[in-house]
Amino acid sequence: MQTYHGSCHCGAVSYTVTGEFTEGMRCNCSHCKRKGFLLAFVPDEQFQLEKGADQETVYRFNKHHIDHTFCKTCGVQSHGHGHDGNGHYMTMINLNCLENFDTSSLKINDFDGASL
Ligand SMILES: [Zn+2]
Repeated sequence: MQTYHGSCHCGAVSYTVTGEFTEGMRCNCSHCKRKGFLLAFVPDEQFQLEKGADQETVYRFNKHHIDHTFCKTCGVQSHGHGHDGNGHYMTMINLNCLENFDTSSLKINDFDGASL
């Protein structure tokens, strides 16, 4: 697996994540669509916040299953946290926030979150 570095725009929040990211999920729900996410999910163990825990604020909506953490300064949501409904906690990676990562080669999977 590869290790990537991710961050918000201003750099207050940064992290490392390991994984093989060949596909990106594009969700059409009212939230993801607005933010323009390309998402991947990894087990929490593969995610390490480097800095910015105190620079983030959290947005929750609908069933409040997911913590949409975003930078208080620049507003970018580089990652999030939630569970899959079976108690497995996952970290949501916004692939657009990874450094040296080419999103144009991703296989895009459309997810119909708007119908949930
Ligand atoms: Zn920021």
